[in-house]
Amino acid sequence: MADDIFTDPQQWGFETRAIRAGQHHDASSGAVVTPISLATTFVQEEPGKHRGYEYSRTGNPTRSALQDCLASLEGAGHGLAFGSGMAAEDTLLRTLSPGDHIVLGNDAYGGTYRLISAVLAPSGVDWSAADLTDPDSLRAAMRPATKVVWAETPTNPLLTVIDLAATAEIAHAGGARFVVDNTFATPYLQQPLSQGADVVVHSTTKYCGGHSDVVGGFIATNDDGLAERLAYLQNAIGAIGSPFDNYLTLRGLKTLAVRMDRHCENAQAIVDLLVDHPAVSHVLYPGLSDHPGHEAAARQMSAFGGMVSFRVAAGRDAAMRVTTATKVFSLAESLGAVESLIEHPGVMTHASAAGSPLEVPDDLVRLSVGIESTQDLVDDVAQALDGL
Ligand SMILES: *Cc1c(COP(=O)(O)O)cnc(C)c1O
Repeated sequence: MADDIFTDPQQWGFETRAIRAGQHHDASSGAVVTPISLATTFVQEEPGKHRGYEYSRTGNPTRSALQDCLASLEGAGHGLAFGSGMAAEDTLLRTLSPGDHIVLGNDAYGGTYRLISAVLAPSGVDWSAADLTDPDSLRAAMRPATKVVWAETPTNPLLTVIDLAATAEIAHAGGARFVVDNTFATPYLQQPLSQGADVVVHSTTKYCGGHSDVVGGFIATNDDGLAERLAYLQNAIGAIGSPFDNYLTLRGLKTLAVRMDRHCENAQAIVDLLVDHPAVSHVLYPGLSDHPGHEAAARQMSAFGGMVSFRVAAGRDAAMRVTTATKVFSLAESLGAVESLIEHPGVMTHASAAGSPLEVPDDLVRLSVGIESTQDLVDDVAQALDGL
């Protein structure tokens, strides 16, 4: 909203904007919390003359509050909230036409790979995978028809780091938009638009919501024309979340900064354990100085996040056993919430990438380190590995 003083990143800090941007005290009651606006339709003074809302698929006050808040956190002029991360991605990719080409990082979220390879490709959108840590691999994958370069950083589940500014430069030189899935880092740790990205997408289901109780997605951009097209597509497709979903996500954002601080702290403690453990062959965490993307991560992120992956020296079966041997870490898909989760990507989240360029090692275990007591988490992982 134009009259919202709290959306300006020049004037207000991240935490202030997370709690205040887009969130007006209710004019009629003075309620300090954004109401859940359930109305599907809104009165008009005369035909076509209304207060900004007509029909709730097109626009909803609770959704507007979330959009203004998260757009501000990403340093974006425009934000759109969706019913899921995949709904956001699908809506964004519907700006493409048959014959257009996408370059996708070869370590992308399995669902993104599935959407592009199994849903878009059959209707004529081309794609290829590239190693986005290697500028030559990206340059070789670019075609005259390339309209989108799609990256995650850090990636899921290998925690690979992509140099945002360098990738943006190559994408732009080829006339493509640079899209960054910022789900893992969150705007608290990394703001891709300030590093040359044109579009940021989120699964707000993860850290933004933060409590494993709401599915949602988001797109942020400073491109006015694209934002207008996306709002048109969102309304045409109907890829929205409910007002209650929007409320929960907005509620989650208020504590994003303090949660991320603790996620990062706990992840570092787990990493310290893993690097010294004989049952572990590799620890994948951008905060490690020998991580190939450490320098880029240190440059473009303010801390290294709450996701940690590692490979179990004894192989696949041992990795599977670790995932059922923890007590505090629950065996489940998803990530980014207050409770710690453990999973086997090859069998669970990334099963659909088997046999593709995006296949992950079968001895890989992924941790979403939560915000429980640090020592309890360290002890839990230690006992699971000691018992192998
Ligand atoms: C979960 C996830 C998505 C998909 O989001 P949904 O909310 O599950 O639809 C996309 N990208 C990344 C990196 C994710 O972790």
